Amino acid sequence: MNRLDFSIKIAHLYPDLLNIYGDKGNIAAIKYRCDMRGIRVDIDEIKSGYRVNQTDTDFYFIGGGQDMQQIKASIELSKNKERLIEAMETDAVFLGICGGYQLLGNYYQPFEGDRLSGIGLLDAYTIAGKKRFIGNVSTICPYMDNTSVVGFENHSGLTYLRGKTKPFLKVIKGAGNNNKDKSEGARYKNVFGTYLHGSLLPKNPKLCDYLIALALKRKYKCDIPLDELDDSTEERAHDFCLKLKR
Ligand code: GLN
Repeated sequence: MNRLDFSIKIAHLYPDLLNIYGDKGNIAAIKYRCDMRGIRVDIDEIKSGYRVNQTDTDFYFIGGGQDMQQIKASIELSKNKERLIEAMETDAVFLGICGGYQLLGNYYQPFEGDRLSGIGLLDAYTIAGKKRFIGNVSTICPYMDNTSVVGFENHSGLTYLRGKTKPFLKVIKGAGNNNKDKSEGARYKNVFGTYLHGSLLPKNPKLCDYLIALALKRKYKCDIPLDELDDSTEERAHDFCLKLKR
């Protein structure tokens, strides 16, 4: 079977609500790295009021946003909750960034206003604090032999993990989930959340390929080896960010 037979489908959740800091750059990175390998990428934008199709979607992406946009996104996500839980149970890959990450958990309590329900794919909860954490972040990823992962954080939410939900990354520089336990982000099954904007995947090519490989494995039920790409530009961007002050 040649590469042209392979494809993945991405559902971009609520780009009309959650897309600050250019988080859609993560989808552009996935598409680029698949295109370079002849793997077709179909992208569904799931806007407010839309219904996800959990049977043929391999990858779900949800970006970050301010508290105001998260209120509406919380309501919209709840309408697709059962379908998204089914997607998680069938090993679909999720990547949630910051505000989107918070809503993949059980709830987000803003500093002011009512608690926002999440869809509980991650056993995690977030409570907004008085301090805003803004700056460059460097971490290592235990799922990828402690590969370096860099990004930028801007959140007041403090996230705590419970049960089978484990940290996605380990903080080297920055605040991460709660500026206390050196955890950054969360993982349960193939659901990943992180505070790292940037956008994240263009300057973390190994992580991008790791997620693409998980989505292909979910669809084709076997490991699909990915051809090596020339990542010299991506690695230069990564190393530049690694040297940035906090
Ligand atoms: N409103 C959330 C917070 O401040 C998420 C912010 C974001 O997505 N950058 O923690």
